[in-house]
Amino acid sequence: MRRPVVLFLIALWLLTTIVFVWSVANRRTVLIHVMSLADPPALLEVESLEEGVAWWDDYFTLEWLDERTLAIGEPRFAQRNFAYLILGEDRAVLFDTGPGVRTSLRRLVEEVTDLPVVAAPSHLHYDHIGNLAYFDEIALMDVAGVRDQLVDGVLVPTPDQFLGQIEDYTAPRLRPTEWWPPGARIDLGGRTLLVVHTPGHTPESISLWDEASGYFFAGDFLYPGPLFAFLPGSSAADYRMAVDHAATLLPTHVRSYGGHGKLDSTRAPALTRRDLLDLGAVLEGIEDGTAAGGSGLFPRTYPVNGELDLWVDPLD
Ligand SMILES: [Zn+2]
Repeated sequence: MRRPVVLFLIALWLLTTIVFVWSVANRRTVLIHVMSLADPPALLEVESLEEGVAWWDDYFTLEWLDERTLAIGEPRFAQRNFAYLILGEDRAVLFDTGPGVRTSLRRLVEEVTDLPVVAAPSHLHYDHIGNLAYFDEIALMDVAGVRDQLVDGVLVPTPDQFLGQIEDYTAPRLRPTEWWPPGARIDLGGRTLLVVHTPGHTPESISLWDEASGYFFAGDFLYPGPLFAFLPGSSAADYRMAVDHAATLLPTHVRSYGGHGKLDSTRAPALTRRDLLDLGAVLEGIEDGTAAGGSGLFPRTYPVNGELDLWVDPLD
């Protein structure tokens, strides 16, 4: 065969393979495989903490948002995770348990409070359930068929739910002691949390609404930075419905605390109802094709406002 013909056939084969991987195979899973090829990021050095934020050891930070609400930060972890210890009079909730870089989170919590603690993740990604199995009391979201995954009382998140392969984490074996359906009111004694289903980032994502304090604990549904709606299980349509639902629920004065902090701050990441509405407007624009400023092929990135970007799957 003549050389141009051979080159043409090779190019055609490459193109066909790319199109196949992109559309027929699950492009999101392929992306996760590609991400997992890189070495996990090293721990960061943190020079100083802002006022009101203190080290617990040389890894975790503590910031009291009020006398009953503690933000536990991991500023040395590249994703800057935040968990929240929410204290009532009889009981406490630990919302999210970080990636598990350090396994001393339970000891930290027991140093802070004598109350019985139930640990509950916002969703099942590896960076939110790393320390979960160390707690005796575990509440899981009763949504999106999660409960159906139980085998002999044990739940092991699927690779697509967990995504720990990105940083070489192994999925934990979780023994839930309670199930929280959307709309459940979690009574902590003198403090009540409403369970809100907020899918979009993942199907099983939940948030907690503490109406009396005006705090919305949002997990990865809403935090400053890039919001990910392109991962396995993500859905821009679900995201939009969840934002609309949250917007009807939350008042103007809400402070929404997210699961990841900013890279230029060690404080708990707080956002407002305005940020939620701005996100809703972009999601609406993506749905009807009028969203502006999108860049990239996959994931496609849309600016929301000075605090937020939204990363979506354009073929969603
Ligand atoms: Zn996360």
